[in-house]
Amino acid sequence: MTQDIQAPNTESQAVVHHHDNDVRQRFFIEDSPVRGDVVRLSRSYATTIAQKPYPEAIKRLLGEMLTAASLLISTVKINGRLSIQLQSADSDSLLNWAMAECDQDGIIRALASWKGDTDEQAQAWEQMTHAKEAFAELGAAGQGVLFINIQPDGGEPYQGIVERSHDNLADCLAHYQKQSAQIPTLINLASDGLQAGGILVQMLPRTAQETYEVEQNQDAGIDDDLWTRLSVLTRTVKAEELTTLDTNEILYRLYHEENVVAPDPVSLSFGCTCSREKCEMAIEQIGETEILDIIEEQGGTFEMDCGFCGEIYKFNKDDVATIFSE
Ligand SMILES: [Zn+2]
Repeated sequence: MTQDIQAPNTESQAVVHHHDNDVRQRFFIEDSPVRGDVVRLSRSYATTIAQKPYPEAIKRLLGEMLTAASLLISTVKINGRLSIQLQSADSDSLLNWAMAECDQDGIIRALASWKGDTDEQAQAWEQMTHAKEAFAELGAAGQGVLFINIQPDGGEPYQGIVERSHDNLADCLAHYQKQSAQIPTLINLASDGLQAGGILVQMLPRTAQETYEVEQNQDAGIDDDLWTRLSVLTRTVKAEELTTLDTNEILYRLYHEENVVAPDPVSLSFGCTCSREKCEMAIEQIGETEILDIIEEQGGTFEMDCGFCGEIYKFNKDDVATIFSE
């Protein structure tokens, strides 16, 4: 099933259609090596950032990271999860780490750790309102680390280290794609603390036959200026358009003069992969004596709470005995 991008008719959409603003929309420019995705996050993002009292700049950074993870997993053909992780190298940094994840079914979650206990720290966060400012808390360029982690179901995990080549996440990721995969990539990310959105456009390598045809300058229907044109167009998208328009409106706004083909979109939603079984595995790692000591200290219960979703798992002595008897 494909649908052609048409001029958005907001009036009829408002009446007839349900506005689903938690989606990833793949698109192709017909008869070209260009493909891309547009992501919009609304309710899924709001639910994610409601899990902790995040400062505004971290909310926005997590919005960009969630959008990026949702875009990038579409570029790798795996069943599994892709996460983006930021790690500060500086112990004085106000942002300790942040991570955002998306799986092949479009389930997203995110978490960040920051310093905000003292008045000074809280005030410093109050003065920051942009994702870029939270990103800068990783330290000067060259400090702090960005990772892309890919965890295929039942396969070997893969980690890519992303150079902090720019002062914002989108440009660092585009630089990484170009360097590591040799694929020209445009990435634009935006988040206003309530909604998030972004676009990724890639020019895939041409086949030998296509390259030959371009070199021979035949009428092969290959448009050599396309990439330059798309680069210019993609840069014109405003942050507020990425965080407020529907995916189809964004595509129409940017590429209405191109032949855009868009298959059915993929829904994105908040979800967590934590479970009682995973906690039990962690308890086995810690060891029976240690856990029983903690239970004693804490008045009879050992609690493990999930930062991603707020779920609390409780274990008493009998539960621990069962875990270690199996
Ligand atoms: Zn959880």
